[in-house]
Amino acid sequence: MSPPLVFLKRNGGRLGISTEALRTMQSYVQREPGSHEAGGIMIGRYVDGGEDIVVDLVTGPLPGDRRSRFRFHRLKRSHQAVLDREWRESGHTRTYVGEWHTHPEPDPSPSGIDLQDWRRRVQRDTFHGEELHFVIVGQTHLRAWEMTRGSHQPTRLTYWGRAEQIVKTYLEEPHGEEIPEDNRPVSEHAASERSQGTNEA
Ligand SMILES: [Zn+2]
Repeated sequence: MSPPLVFLKRNGGRLGISTEALRTMQSYVQREPGSHEAGGIMIGRYVDGGEDIVVDLVTGPLPGDRRSRFRFHRLKRSHQAVLDREWRESGHTRTYVGEWHTHPEPDPSPSGIDLQDWRRRVQRDTFHGEELHFVIVGQTHLRAWEMTRGSHQPTRLTYWGRAEQIVKTYLEEPHGEEIPEDNRPVSEHAASERSQGTNEA
């Protein structure tokens, strides 16, 4: 079982990814020549005054999502339904913190179309805080970026470590910051404006 993975954010806070979220994402690593891209949204909490974020769970590919070797296009409604349920059942503490997808390359980096998609999200999605987070799961490395509201370039996050300690401190801690109802999280369509025929990774 993977211990939680923790990244350091630019503001000094940490982005922790729970064992459960890692297990889901790593089950879609594109190891085989025929395996397709996968992805989904990341759902988590703002803890410790809002600087540390814990990704509790992620959605995986759902029926209707389109998957190919170099492309993943998810539907909005089915993923939003999971987000709505978590938001409601957590008392407005679990919210939308970003997106993840896989790449068929060892050490992944965002494609041009990924960057377009991320830029659109930090403009249009409804989210708490100032950043969204983006994870790409490669064949050997899992990398994370953050992107500030309205900005054009993501920043890659550095590894903080695989910490058992943060599990006790945060990941098993049931609390998260309560987010105002008028900031109900909404993730928009992924890749809906992507041009046809691009060989996107
Ligand atoms: Zn990509």
